[in-house]
Amino acid sequence: MNRDDLSLYLDDHLQVARIKDYCPNGLQVQGKPIIKTLVSGVTASLALIEEAIALKADAIMVHHGWFWKNDDARVIGQLHSRLKLLMDHEINLFAYHLPLDVHPVLGNNAQLAKVMGWKPLMGSKRASLGSASPMDGLIWEGHPEASQKTLGQLARSISGRLGRDPLVIGDLNKPIKRIAWCTGGAQGYINQAIEMKVDAYISGEVSEQTFHAAEESGVAYIAAGHHATERYGIGALGEFVAQKYKLKHQFVDIPNPV
Ligand SMILES: [Zn+2]
Repeated sequence: MNRDDLSLYLDDHLQVARIKDYCPNGLQVQGKPIIKTLVSGVTASLALIEEAIALKADAIMVHHGWFWKNDDARVIGQLHSRLKLLMDHEINLFAYHLPLDVHPVLGNNAQLAKVMGWKPLMGSKRASLGSASPMDGLIWEGHPEASQKTLGQLARSISGRLGRDPLVIGDLNKPIKRIAWCTGGAQGYINQAIEMKVDAYISGEVSEQTFHAAEESGVAYIAAGHHATERYGIGALGEFVAQKYKLKHQFVDIPNPV
């Protein structure tokens, strides 16, 4: 597969140009012109690059790439180590941040719902790629699985399926009928979830003020892990393009407790 053709296809499929973000989406670092082996992972960390080298990958595809808006623009320290290792091995780096979060099928919210058995409500605040606002499609709303009737049952189900004990704020006996979720570091959107009048809001991380927002609104909050909630979108995207273009693909999970 030609690198530039793959890049064009992905940019189009994920509607990269329509979504404002804090990092460049798409091909971030140019490597070999022909891609046969693809490795996907959550974050373009040194450990992921090392694994990709061991797997003889021509390209790495991640959710958390590099060159964030407020980053130091110099190529020193951590960025130098990562970039040097990647470029010495001529590996392409593709990164899709918000465009992957909001994608209605391959996105992190869609894929987390699939893993958890949640039924997204159509036509609510879910994925509407028609607008350039990064908020659109970021918070999803839906119903939990039948086995997740209380906050305690929902938390246990999350723990079992994501392999990580979540932090739970709220009464474990609280009945849960309608939930909202947004993967990653989206605890700040709890106020949107409160406006949506859901019974519980699930994201990855938690802040000090999240506790007070949950306690005072009565909307339960579950911090299920940034990494744990964002493990599914990029693997689904990798598998999707690998099947389409007959590439060798492997999702590499580098564990992260946060
Ligand atoms: Zn994230």
